[in-house]
Amino acid sequence: MTERTVVVAAALLDAGRLLAARRSAPPELAGRWELPGGKVEPGERPEAALVRELREELGVDTEAVERVPGEWPLRAPYVLQVWTARLRPGSAAPAPLQDHDELRWLAPGEIWDVPWLDQDVPAVRETLTRLGTR
Ligand code: C5P
Repeated sequence: MTERTVVVAAALLDAGRLLAARRSAPPELAGRWELPGGKVEPGERPEAALVRELREELGVDTEAVERVPGEWPLRAPYVLQVWTARLRPGSAAPAPLQDHDELRWLAPGEIWDVPWLDQDVPAVRETLTRLGTR
């Protein structure tokens, strides 16, 4: 079986800080932190899905910058891919509109202060390696 669905997540960066979002649902994920994102729809480009999900979940206007190399398995059939992203000029500040109940902009020294979802840990680590801020 090669069926799989890509979940895109954003390493949204602003002034050297990384946005982390605390999930409010479902119950088994609530209270854990993630890189915000969601499922790519059929026929949709992953970068477009990222921008759409960030608008829906956080009310922000963003652009994808570059793919973080790698791919991490989630519950089948999902796989996680990460793009770095930035706010576009004039964007609102992010707000937890859906799926999340708290947001934090983490400075490089604060990245591991929040309990990330297990599946996001390797993705966050790889993102930091790419950014050279570890
Ligand atoms: O947000 P959405 O429900 O579309 O996400 C699809 C799936 O991907 C969910 O099961 C969610 O828990 C998972 N996910 C994840 N890590 C992320 C983003 C989403 O495990 N950073």
